[in-house]
Amino acid sequence: MKEAAYYEKLDNGSVRCILCPHRCSLRPGMTGVCRARRNIDGRLFSLNYGYAVSVALDPIEKKPLYHFHPGSLILSAGTFGCNFRCSWCQNWSIAHGEDDAHGEDDTHGEDDAHGEDDAHGGDRASGRENELVPDSRDDRTGSGDEQAYAWNHRGVRLSELRPESLARLAEQYASHGNIGVAYTYNEPTIWYEFVLETAKLVREKGLVNVLVTNGFINEEPLKELLPYIDAMNIDVKGFTGNFYTRYCKGGLDHVRRTVERAAQHCHVEVTTLVIPGLNDSPGEIGELARWLSSIDRDIVLHLSRFFPNYKMLRIAPTPLKTLETAKKSAMEHLRHVYPGNV
Ligand code: SF4
Repeated sequence: MKEAAYYEKLDNGSVRCILCPHRCSLRPGMTGVCRARRNIDGRLFSLNYGYAVSVALDPIEKKPLYHFHPGSLILSAGTFGCNFRCSWCQNWSIAHGEDDAHGEDDTHGEDDAHGEDDAHGGDRASGRENELVPDSRDDRTGSGDEQAYAWNHRGVRLSELRPESLARLAEQYASHGNIGVAYTYNEPTIWYEFVLETAKLVREKGLVNVLVTNGFINEEPLKELLPYIDAMNIDVKGFTGNFYTRYCKGGLDHVRRTVERAAQHCHVEVTTLVIPGLNDSPGEIGELARWLSSIDRDIVLHLSRFFPNYKMLRIAPTPLKTLETAKKSAMEHLRHVYPGNV
């Protein structure tokens, strides 16, 4: 465990985490909304520091990033936890844990507290065909640093992984076309200390860092991290505050600020999962695209097709015609709009 970088001490051994806008106040023994930070004896610790759930060599387009080193591969790593609780999450098992596996259908969005996010633009961790972190039977990395899967967090198999090991793995795979490390699969901003340390090492090796994120992070930690990040895919899950509150248990304004700040520092692409009846109106998509164009008309927008998943099982997949209409609305403001998941 690693002591958290961003928190304040309160009275009676309580702490307030100030990493993300939830600003969880935690008495000793309590864990934050993200399930990745816990008050232990009056100090806040990152529970996922040094633990990975999945490490794989993926095409950069899978993040999705279409205008950043197209055709290359990127070593992609994720752990557990998330600070959103999107009802359609396709990585729910690592974001929420096993206890949420039997969650009731949440088509109408009336339910549980906080907690996690979509799989970030379709970047799923469930397929292990490109898995690189070894288990006890197969040490394919050859580094010898990563341990056998030794922990089981809420039903999720974890592997120990140090920042130096991940950076070294990225370097080893450079000769196979790897350009760096993508922090993805779960929400990487709540893996903050690990991501920041690894990103610095990856940079030293002349490789790039990519963040695939929901953008729900406070300004100060974002400011510290951005100098080491080369590209981001940021989910903008809808373009109304109500959508974020009701279906993600998060907030749109903070995400907008992250997109605006990030675009000043690195390459940014945005992903919106288009869900029939919830965020698919041409007017809403047009407003989203208009706002993005006010930042930079060349920001790439991915409009991703929804499929029933997790707690949102009663909504049919997005009709292709809806995606086409959404694309048309967005193209009135942006130069690069791509339907995804089709
Ligand atoms: S990262 Fe966010 S959700 Fe997690 S403990 Fe801190 S404030 Fe709460």
